Formats: sequence, structure tokens, C-alpha cells
Amino acid sequence: MTQNKGKALIIGAGIAGLSSAYYLLQQGWSVEILEQNDLSNNCSYGNAGMIVPSHFTPLAAPGVVAQGIRWMFDSKSPFYVKPSLSTDLFSWGIKFLKHSNQKHVDRSASAIRDLNLASSLLYNEIAAKDEFNFELNQNGILMLYKTEKVREEETELAHKAVSLGLSVDILDQKGIQELEPNIRMDVIGGINYKCDGHMNPMKLMKQMISYLKNNGVVFYTHHKVTGIETSESTIKAVIANDKKFTADCFVMTGGSFLPELAQKAGIKIQLMPGKGYSFMHTPENPVNTMNHAALLLEARVAVTPMNGQIRFGGTMELASHHDKINMKRVEGIVRSIPQYLPDFQMHYKKESEIWFGYRPCAPDGLPYLGQSSQLKNLIIAGGGGMMGLSLGPIFGKTVSELANSQKPTVEIKIFNPERFS
Ligand SMILES: Cc1cc2nc3c(=O)[nH]c(=O)nc-3n(C[C@H](O)[C@H](O)[C@H](O)COP(=O)(O)OP(=O)(O)OC[C@H]3O[C@@H](n4cnc5c(N)ncnc54)[C@H](O)[C@@H]3O)c2cc1C
Repeated sequence: MTQNKGKALIIGAGIAGLSSAYYLLQQGWSVEILEQNDLSNNCSYGNAGMIVPSHFTPLAAPGVVAQGIRWMFDSKSPFYVKPSLSTDLFSWGIKFLKHSNQKHVDRSASAIRDLNLASSLLYNEIAAKDEFNFELNQNGILMLYKTEKVREEETELAHKAVSLGLSVDILDQKGIQELEPNIRMDVIGGINYKCDGHMNPMKLMKQMISYLKNNGVVFYTHHKVTGIETSESTIKAVIANDKKFTADCFVMTGGSFLPELAQKAGIKIQLMPGKGYSFMHTPENPVNTMNHAALLLEARVAVTPMNGQIRFGGTMELASHHDKINMKRVEGIVRSIPQYLPDFQMHYKKESEIWFGYRPCAPDGLPYLGQSSQLKNLIIAGGGGMMGLSLGPIFGKTVSELANSQKPTVEIKIFNPERFS
């Protein structure tokens, strides 16, 4: 660690906030974090733990809207937009439609790939430290399919991935089965994105918090930011629990709550919470282990080996924040699993076994990462959407580079946080 650069105040203790603290600390900043809850849960804990350079296609892409509309009429489907008169949802939806085209996908693909690849390497560096052991396994992710239609789509995408320099194998059923000898794979084939990996996000978050605390980062939990004082294009103070917090540099994360936070600083950011569910499963037969993380493509279900168990996750409900668990959608996940993995005969899940989180989804599917042009001591890191965990370390490294007025390692112009302001 280098000498003190000044004080950085971070809002939000998700992976974006913790990673920012980690890299700012390395650069010699003293760091404080304001978190509205405790340090036991947010979207960064119960997710599928996948590191995904394979996800170079933004959520806003051709075909997504038509598929989404078909799914909206099925209560167990993996995607749902709650019809609402909310102007936020309307405005988000218009922008989403505008960006759901091939030109946007082509313009964004290499930028998203570079961000994810850089982040994946940083995860290797973090995992090499003695203080960390979060089951990082960079052995690829299997995209599994059961239908010819998805095989065709995925093969085309795999060729695109190869043209982007990603390491990919296109496999038939036998090839997939050889990679997973301990469970039956009822699929017609799959793509192994060897550039991807997985981890245990709960362990990562806990170990990161311990590391930061042991190295002097101060956490203020149950401190919800309720106001931000600005003058002369600068943040003067952030208000939480009726106290004023000052700093030389402010970092705003906040996950799916980023729009409310940004608004307090006079900045417009568009995000919708994309609610998803996950649960843990212990295979009845301990012989049925899995080596790789996988996506069951038609069902849109994520499967990740974690701590001797398997985590299953899925669904994307775009609606305002609400804590109700929709058990119909959970049932949709549960029912689809044995169709691909017949050794995992699932039991009915109780509501208490279900975790949910809100993916912070921007309407163009791109993160918000960069220095504010309206407030010169503010850096914004959010909107990671379906890949926010994967992007954590590169968010943090970029934040620290911007705080030190250095050129970011990865090109971030396209992720301008004020692009919809
Ligand atoms: C089912 C599911 C599976 C997923 N799987 C993956 C995956 O495999 N790989 C991947 O890369 N991503 C995955 N994701 C997405 C990923 O989990 C998120 O993108 C990521 O965790 C977002 O991190 P964050 O730090 O931006 O937000 P969060 O983790 O939500 O943290 C934001 C924090 O800010 C705090 N905050 C908000 N407002 C205030 C305020 N006013 N004052 C103080 N604190 C505030 C919140 O309390 C919260 O703790 C998945 C998500 C879901 C739901």
C-alpha cells in the first residue's frame, strides 16, 4: 500500500462498492463505506457466481423483445415485465426497444468483452492472496441446449465469440457428457465457454469485508444516504442518519437503487431492478457432482457447483422493488432442472429456502462506469445487470484509476454514467 492520497467515501457495500474499496486502499486512500443495511445480504451474495466474458451481448439485443412478450403470458416463464403506469418503466422500456438492434450489439460487444476479461484476470489476482479462498474455478461455463433452434442460435453466437478472440468449444451430447461424467446430461449439445469461470459469491463477499476491515476500511452499516449536498460542481457532503460525511472523492454504487441515489445529486440514471431467485440443492446421491457451471438455455436457468452443493438461479422480473417471492416462477425453475439434468430430481421448494436479488439493469444493457461530468469529485460504478459480480474487480480498479486521475486500463467511454442525463 502507498501513502495516503485522501479520503474516499463509498456508497453501497455490494461487490461494486467493496471492489472499489479494495483498489482505492491499494492506491493509498483511506476509505469509508456507507451501507443502508447490514453486511449480510444484497444482490452480490446469492447470485450464480459466474464470471462471464461469454456475455458480450447486452440484454438489449434483437429477438429479446419478441421472446419477452411471448413469455409475459406464462406465469412460470423466466422473464416478466410487470405492466405498470410507472413513467420510469415506460421511459426505460422505450430506451430498451431503441437499443434492441444488431448495431447496438456490434458496437458494445468488444467493450463488454474487454471489461469482463480484465475483471476475470483481477479475480485470479485476488484469489491468489492468502486472505481469500472463494472457490474460484476458471474452468469454463457450459451453455446447454435441448432444441435445434437454440443449437443454431448458440452456434452462431459461438462463432462470433471466436471472432472476438474468446476460447470456445462447440460440443455434441457426447462431448458435453465427457466433461461431466458424474451426472446424466439430457441435452443435444452445448458450448463450452472456456474463457468463463465460477466462484462462491457469499465467500467472496465475506472474505472481502474481513480483508477491508483488517486493512482499516471503516463500515457504517444501517446508514442510508438520504441527501447529497453539492455546490460549484462538487459534492460537499453526503447525509446519512442525520450526519454529514465529507471526503475528497465520492464513489456511488447502490446496485438497483442507484437512480434514487443519483437523483439526490441531481443526476439522472435509468435502471430497472431485474428480480431473480436462487436456491441451494444437495444432490441425493453424493456421486452426482458437477465440475462446471452451466446455463440451461431454453429454461434460462443457471447452475453452479458451490461448496459441495449446487446453486440454481433464474428468472428476470422487471418491476419496481417489492419483496414478494413469486413461487410460480420458482416452480418454473424447479421443473426445468430434471429436463436437462435427470439425476437432480427436485422437491418442492419452501419459500424460506428461496433467495432473491435485484439485478441493476440499464435500458441499453451496459454498465454505468465513469467520472461524473456534473460533479467533479464523484465517480459512479453500477448497472452491472446480469454480470455485475463478474465485473466487480474491474469496476473497482477503474474507480481507483479515475480517483488518481489515471487513464483507465480498459476503455470506458461507452459506459458513461450520464449518457441518459
Ligand atoms: C438470480 C441472480 C443471479 C445472478 N448471477 C450472476 C452471475 O452469475 N454473475 C454475475 O456477474 N452477476 C450475476 N448476477 C447479477 C449480480 O448479482 C449483480 O449485478 C451485482 O451483485 C450488483 O452488485 P452491486 O454492488 O452493483 O449492487 P448490490 O450488490 O445490490 O449492492 C448495492 C448496495 O448498495 C446499498 N445501497 C443502496 N442504496 C443505498 C443508500 N441510499 N444508502 C446506503 N446504501 C445503499 C444496498 O443496500 C446494497 O447493499 C445475478 C443476479 C441475480 C438476481
